[in-house]
Amino acid sequence: MSEGPAGALLVRGGTVVTAAGARRAHIRCRDGRIVELGPDLASQGEPVLDADGALVFPGVIDPHLHFALVSAPHRTADDFDTGSAAALSGGVTTFIDFAHQHAGERLSAAVDARLDEAARSRADYSLHVIVTDVAGGQLAELAALTERGFTSAKVYTTYRPSGFYCDDDTIVSLMEAARTAGWIVMVHCENDALVEGSRARFARLGHVGFAYHGRARPALAELEAVQRMLLFARTTRCPVYLVHLSVAESARLVARARAEGVPAVGETCPHFLVADASVYDTERAVRFIHTPPLRSGEDRRALWEALEARHLQTVASDHCGYTLRQRTDYGDFTRVAPGIPGTETLLPLVYTYGVGAGRLGPADVARICAENPARAFGLFPRKGTIVEGGDADLVVYDPSARARIEDGRVRSAAGYSPFDGMEVHGRVAATVLRGEVAYDGADVRAPRGYGRRIPRKGVRADALP
Ligand SMILES: [Zn+2]
Repeated sequence: MSEGPAGALLVRGGTVVTAAGARRAHIRCRDGRIVELGPDLASQGEPVLDADGALVFPGVIDPHLHFALVSAPHRTADDFDTGSAAALSGGVTTFIDFAHQHAGERLSAAVDARLDEAARSRADYSLHVIVTDVAGGQLAELAALTERGFTSAKVYTTYRPSGFYCDDDTIVSLMEAARTAGWIVMVHCENDALVEGSRARFARLGHVGFAYHGRARPALAELEAVQRMLLFARTTRCPVYLVHLSVAESARLVARARAEGVPAVGETCPHFLVADASVYDTERAVRFIHTPPLRSGEDRRALWEALEARHLQTVASDHCGYTLRQRTDYGDFTRVAPGIPGTETLLPLVYTYGVGAGRLGPADVARICAENPARAFGLFPRKGTIVEGGDADLVVYDPSARARIEDGRVRSAAGYSPFDGMEVHGRVAATVLRGEVAYDGADVRAPRGYGRRIPRKGVRADALP
């Protein structure tokens, strides 16, 4: 991608921001790693990337997204190629997607099939294993998968028809085995009976337009499942990572459990931080068909407070690149697969509505978007920070730029952004992945297949973010 030796670059003039703070420093990269950090480094022949006036963040880690997702009746427009290009243009250098184990399947078979697809990625990646069935001795596979660098599972407490649902007995068995193996278990928390019962009532009344999507999916379903999963984590001592928390009370439950020593990490998403359920009363409802749905303005504000107070640890995109046509062709929330695009707008939105609004400092952004996900999923300190010896994954972010998110300008094959029309402070001027300029502020330069699968370490309950 650049002239000169692979992975060699000098990033000059920027303010280096990590979770520990900010300082002026130049960064020398060689063989894809950071080899020197200092106040005044001269080029030793490597290409120079000018970061004057910019913030230099660690490459963003998006630990929760779905490329090439098939969920009846749809397949996402984004595959690993287009999705990873979108990610790089937003400063995301590493993402963790999923390998879905179908009933009866071996976990390793699910992983291998998915790795074939992921090989097209332009950004670095790993996979979480979606576990649905352990009746065939699958838990005995965790040790071999750990050897290969896979150390996380995901379970869903809902979605029976699409084959994601995992029952409580399986979840507890998995958590017991995961704790021993050094794995962390991610959970989609929504009580299945509560969401399905409510949906069925709305459907019987014919209330299936997108305006009803939010009301049909009660907050109580999330709270019940969060509480149950925290109880399971408390009992098994297995580290858990609760995805896409949308309700203020969920954050309080996580904070209380963490204070009592329960090994739990809480994630929220940009859409819960910048939008609320009032959208469902407008024609923009079609842009926010995801689960859980948007909640109240009060919840939105409380989620920011939870990030500030470190009651929640990460923000992930939950990117799911369906097109608007895949919505409007049906016009019925019960017939479409939920999910919205967002990996390329993750950093700009957290920066704008976090730092720009005075809620967070730049170091908090580095912590929430890079270091904490790296720690939660066994990537730290190779990824998630800026340190000698670590991978040279960097985002050169120009905070003075002002831009507007527009449907016509997104890179995702979804072809739209839910956040169309929103102003953002700053722009990604360059994304560096293993010492190479993978995105130059205009074009994605990393070719298809440049991404590497990054082996991850085990996750210990006492080393969670
Ligand atoms: Zn998801």
